[in-house]
Amino acid sequence: MNSQEIIAIENKHTSGVYLKQALTIVRGQGASLFDVDGAEYLDCSSGHGVANLGHAHPKIAEAIYKQASTLITLFETFPNDQRAMLMEKITGLVPGLDRVFFCNSGTEAVEAAFKFARISTGRKNFIAAMRAFHGRTYGSLSATFNKKYREGFEPLLPGFSHVAYNNIEALDKAVNEETAAVILEVVQGEGGVYPASLEYVQTARRICDERGALLIVDEIQTGFGRTGEMFAIEHFDVTPDLLTCAKSLAGGVPMGAVLIGHNIKNLTPGVHGSTFGGNPLSCAAANAALDVMKDEDLPGQAAAKGAYLMEKLKKIQSPNIREVRGLGLMIGIEMKQKVTPYIKALQEKRIIALNAGLTVIRLLPPLVISYEQIDHLVGVLTEVLSEEA
Ligand SMILES: *Cc1c(COP(=O)(O)O)cnc(C)c1O
Repeated sequence: MNSQEIIAIENKHTSGVYLKQALTIVRGQGASLFDVDGAEYLDCSSGHGVANLGHAHPKIAEAIYKQASTLITLFETFPNDQRAMLMEKITGLVPGLDRVFFCNSGTEAVEAAFKFARISTGRKNFIAAMRAFHGRTYGSLSATFNKKYREGFEPLLPGFSHVAYNNIEALDKAVNEETAAVILEVVQGEGGVYPASLEYVQTARRICDERGALLIVDEIQTGFGRTGEMFAIEHFDVTPDLLTCAKSLAGGVPMGAVLIGHNIKNLTPGVHGSTFGGNPLSCAAANAALDVMKDEDLPGQAAAKGAYLMEKLKKIQSPNIREVRGLGLMIGIEMKQKVTPYIKALQEKRIIALNAGLTVIRLLPPLVISYEQIDHLVGVLTEVLSEEA
């Protein structure tokens, strides 16, 4: 199939919920993606933060192949070597979170965290932040702030309210004896790449402790090295009660997880579950992915490359840029105008970037991006961002 044929078929049969690009991608390698004709693109989106290890990593490919020819599926009631190994590895990442629930996506991890919080505390209410994004199923959507995701789907779940992000006073007023949990991204992703302040996250922990509420940290986008630590929460010296992750957990294979702290009670057989959750194929991929993250020190790479890229971005002289911010290789460039034309212009120059809201260009490259590729990215951005939209 050529590019035109592929695009025509997808446009004809798509559900309609995706804005389709006029660009077909059929192959990836490291931080590069290739279209049907072999043209190379620099991937600064990682499939929305999934491909932290880069595309077509040989260790992931090998693990998937081996496990696929051994055992793909097994319900979690039966223990399995790959799952046991992953349980040990993933609960070793955050001291204090030594149990784990496996599922298949980010939104499922958030749903599970909400259910665990309610059954554990016997309380009903959740506090989320303005600009927050936690997923698109009903519980997660109820915690998601932006009208664009919510409109037309009401009624959402009762018990959810939103407070200004990074605002300690607002959180202090909102959390009370009926709050089951506070849910926060410590760097807001979809909402525009806003890192939380140290004081905010540490105070959130203290407020939750004082009032018997749980703290859920959503690390679905920030997790697995992206911000320069394995989990972004490590920058804040705080342990949440529940930590949700997904995206890059299994090197691109669909998988989600909730890490569970000692305060979580009442998780007894039958309370929750998932048919595909903890399947040996995803577990094997995640085992390989976690090994690669450690062996290649991907968090360290993200910290060093993120600092390098940030410094260069801050030097770009353009009247169109309002602010550059982020943590590690999770970077937002806030423009004074809408960013769609800039993202299009970047794509014409073979760089795939994301937006975050209307005015922020979001860069989430694979953590294996080379310094040469970063220099190229900065060169193209300097050119593109200097022009009027
Ligand atoms: C992507 C994302 C989700 C939802 O993940 P899905 O796998 O798309 O359901 C939830 N929270 C955050 C912070 C995310 O970035």
